[in-house]
Amino acid sequence: MPQPFRVLIAGGSYGGLSAALNLYDLCRGLPPRCGPAPAEGEDLPETPQFAVDITVVDERDGFYHLIGSPLALASEAFTEKCWVKYDDIPGLQSPNIHVVQGSVKSVDPARKVATYLPHGSTAEPQEVRYDYFVAASGLRRAWPVVPQSLRRKQYLFEAGDHIRAATAARHGVVIVGGGAVGIEMAAELKLVHPHLNVTLVHSRDKLLSSEALPDEVKDRSLELLREAGVDVLMSHRLDRTEEVKDDSGNSCLRVHFTNGHSMLADQVSLAVSRSVPTTTYLPNDVLDEQGYVKVQASLAFPEQSPNSAFHFAVGDLAKWSGIKRCGAAMHMGYYAAHNIHRHMQLQTQTEGQAAQATDKGGIPKLLELDEIPPMIGLAVGKKAVAYWPEGGMMSGEDVMKTFFGDDLGFAICWNHLRLGGDKVQ
Ligand SMILES: Cc1cc2nc3c(=O)[nH]c(=O)nc-3n(C[C@H](O)[C@H](O)[C@H](O)COP(=O)(O)OP(=O)(O)OC[C@H]3O[C@@H](n4cnc5c(N)ncnc54)[C@H](O)[C@@H]3O)c2cc1C
Repeated sequence: MPQPFRVLIAGGSYGGLSAALNLYDLCRGLPPRCGPAPAEGEDLPETPQFAVDITVVDERDGFYHLIGSPLALASEAFTEKCWVKYDDIPGLQSPNIHVVQGSVKSVDPARKVATYLPHGSTAEPQEVRYDYFVAASGLRRAWPVVPQSLRRKQYLFEAGDHIRAATAARHGVVIVGGGAVGIEMAAELKLVHPHLNVTLVHSRDKLLSSEALPDEVKDRSLELLREAGVDVLMSHRLDRTEEVKDDSGNSCLRVHFTNGHSMLADQVSLAVSRSVPTTTYLPNDVLDEQGYVKVQASLAFPEQSPNSAFHFAVGDLAKWSGIKRCGAAMHMGYYAAHNIHRHMQLQTQTEGQAAQATDKGGIPKLLELDEIPPMIGLAVGKKAVAYWPEGGMMSGEDVMKTFFGDDLGFAICWNHLRLGGDKVQ
């Protein structure tokens, strides 16, 4: 038996799991799960099979449905659902796929060696040799946008404490930042706890002000938010908060804005911190000045970097056009898997196989990303607003159903990646 190809993936979320599972399909001669579905009656193309050993290293002990965070941090019932330990994910149970909890610390593309620190304070750094590497570790995001726990058990406490503190509020909750995350946080909190005063404040005169989206999308988002019962203060920039006593002598916060306005609140959540790429483990020559990986259209590392054809980056940490989205991360994972599988074919084929491949139409082409225009799907309470250039803007409860189902997209992502094995959520 030939030695299996060793594939190391940093990050086991949308991008990383898509790369792992699509590659696993291709190496078994199956159509990749996130690829285009074959037309009815169309013969499946023959894909050469390879022995493969895929290791995914992730800091968390499970798959965390990140886009469900606004609901996971508002509803304890959903908190439970949003994080599934890797050991409990049927689609990952295979002798060819290993998931390790740890943090990737360094990658040396010239030697094809990486180190990671296994989870646990006494653990020693481990060195791993690989044939192919995929960086899929996303962006570092601040609390309370994203839970900071690395184990599911600890996460349930973290989210539970947050929800209890928010819902015990007498004066209400203020969310600062009218980008997509702030809008969803405010709307989900109000949806799950209709009695709660929820205020979203934004420093500009339009929501989603840093996104290159048409004004009608920004205006519709504001309408939906107000319809959902959220108080929205536009053109309000947070100055400071101070601890004060209210008229009943209870401790609370006075929130001051730079325009002189102030209000009482019990909890202030910041949804404005800039998220930064988690790429400190990669050499500087593959990164731009902000830490994003300067990928080629094939998602391989820059051409001039050592062994670039063996190194890929997918998801939020890849420097590419378009708003960062989980759909794009899964799509990139599929492209990386296809291009790795193609490279395996190039590396292993004998002259005879090359001739045979040519007879059958040759080795498949590299998949290359086109530019991605700005597009968005935004959940605002019971409704959603969606926009992409060809479809234009649409909004309503039916849009919510199509884009998010009834669990902020958990089942859609779970089923797309076939994490349930053959079981559909
Ligand atoms: C609140 C919120 C709401 C969102 N809503 C939507 C939405 O409605 N629709 C949409 O399309 N997108 C949405 N997004 C964006 C979407 O979540 C991201 O585009 C997507 O998560 C990117 O996937 P990824 O796999 O690249 O990275 P991530 O999902 O960030 O996953 C990265 C993984 O890498 C791990 N990791 C990090 N560093 C290391 C390391 N050094 N070693 C090992 N592992 C590491 C992390 O633990 C994590 O599991 C939302 C984002 C947020 C924060």
